[in-house]
Amino acid sequence: MHFKHSVMMIASLVGLAGNGARGEELSAKQLDSIYPELDAFYIDLHRTPELSGHEEKTSAKIAERLRRLGYQVTTGVGGYGVVALMRNGNGPTLLLRTEMDALPVQEKTGLPYASKITAPGKEGGTVGVMHACGHDIHMTSLMGSATLLAKMKDRWQGTLFLISQPAEETVAAAEAMMKAGLFTKFPKRSRASSEFRAKRPPPFTMIQRSPSA
Ligand SMILES: [Zn+2]
Repeated sequence: MHFKHSVMMIASLVGLAGNGARGEELSAKQLDSIYPELDAFYIDLHRTPELSGHEEKTSAKIAERLRRLGYQVTTGVGGYGVVALMRNGNGPTLLLRTEMDALPVQEKTGLPYASKITAPGKEGGTVGVMHACGHDIHMTSLMGSATLLAKMKDRWQGTLFLISQPAEETVAAAEAMMKAGLFTKFPKRSRASSEFRAKRPPPFTMIQRSPSA
């Protein structure tokens, strides 16, 4: 699955997999051990997509899992936005971001876990709803990274700053999250990572270093 690659890239970013062969082996092993639950998480997200601005259940699932992992979770940031922090001593603040909304697209993949969800359309009638843009993969990558990093706290130092953004497809929530204090109430990040779908697999992770880092 695509998210396996992304999780390993994020693990490398924070140095979990970058400490030689032993480090790589260790994080690959850890990832294998959480893979079945990540796969189930992905399938559930794919089956239950929610349109932009309606990510109530999706955000609750993310918040609940992150809380169980020991993150300090704030919900309702600019709509259904979720912000989660894990402070682990002195060090850089790493920001990882995902989006949560799906598209008004009817799924015709025929997959056993295809979405059968429908919602009222903007112009009346009913529309199919599908994670046709890969936000389910992004959420799973973020959750995999968050899980791995929480389990391996003895191997890194700093602060993890996770964002789950609602209404990305309509752009509405970016401003709402900023207005809700995303970068004023929460720690200043020194590195940020977000995912984009490349034309060819695997999706890559963009790593940006802010000038202050
Ligand atoms: Zn998208």
